[in-house]
Amino acid sequence: MRSQDRLVRGIIGGDKARAFVLRTTDVVNEAQACHHTYPVATAALGRTLTIALVLGAMLKGDESVTVQVRGSGILNGIVAVADSKGHVRGYVGNPQAHLPLTANNKLAVGEAVGRGLLFVMRDLGLKEKYQGSVPIQTGEIGDDFAYYFALSEQTPSVVSLGVLVNPDNSVRSAGGLVVQLLPGGESDDAFVAELERIAADLPPMSQVFVDDVQPGQVLQKFFGHLGVKLISEVPVSYSCDCSRERFQRGLVALGTAELEDLIAEGEPVETVCRFCSKRYLFPLAEVKDLLAELRRS
Ligand SMILES: [Zn+2]
Repeated sequence: MRSQDRLVRGIIGGDKARAFVLRTTDVVNEAQACHHTYPVATAALGRTLTIALVLGAMLKGDESVTVQVRGSGILNGIVAVADSKGHVRGYVGNPQAHLPLTANNKLAVGEAVGRGLLFVMRDLGLKEKYQGSVPIQTGEIGDDFAYYFALSEQTPSVVSLGVLVNPDNSVRSAGGLVVQLLPGGESDDAFVAELERIAADLPPMSQVFVDDVQPGQVLQKFFGHLGVKLISEVPVSYSCDCSRERFQRGLVALGTAELEDLIAEGEPVETVCRFCSKRYLFPLAEVKDLLAELRRS
């Protein structure tokens, strides 16, 4: 079935704020199937994949962005990588982590993430990497990115991310919304107050996308009265670009000593992609050839 996952970008109130709204139900389902995550890990990874897609949409061309949530909690860290074309991939350190629900019957994402640092690295090509980091605030991911945008990019932002997990561990719905004040909006007190009012009343994005609703409709529904202009709408997907060739280069990069050790073990070498769990098997003879090639070079 064709995915309904889309990211829409729009402008609110003329030039007062910009918005990103996205449905990521299929993206997060794919991640769940790849990594066999349990619900709390599915939610934490899903929210991180969703915000990574938004950060990716802020880039252009061949640029990419890597998000690392290095928390002290049971999940043992989350990584997501997105490009500017709507592709994202990621993994969580401990996909089968389990925690009881919180007192108000929610997945304990904040506790599972723990405290620590949130890193955002933008790869702008030409090996130029721009990195920002902030302390994790609640570990709920949405709050942490609102803090990141405010502190690291001086951009006041509303960030809402949500994932709803089915009893069989698959994903019922997932999505996100990010609204950022533009310079024109910051000085308009009434506009800022209205955005704050809407933000306070927003239902969870996981609930919003339970219904068969498009991101553009979501944007209209909550912000239409302020004047919404749709700028673009693009499909988003979970996508890993790993290949056998890349893992072969990775083996060569280990160097002669490491390859000798692997060969001494006398077994084929199996590598597993952390992002998509795809396995690549290198027969012993091939590893020996790689070593011989490395020695010749
Ligand atoms: Zn892969």
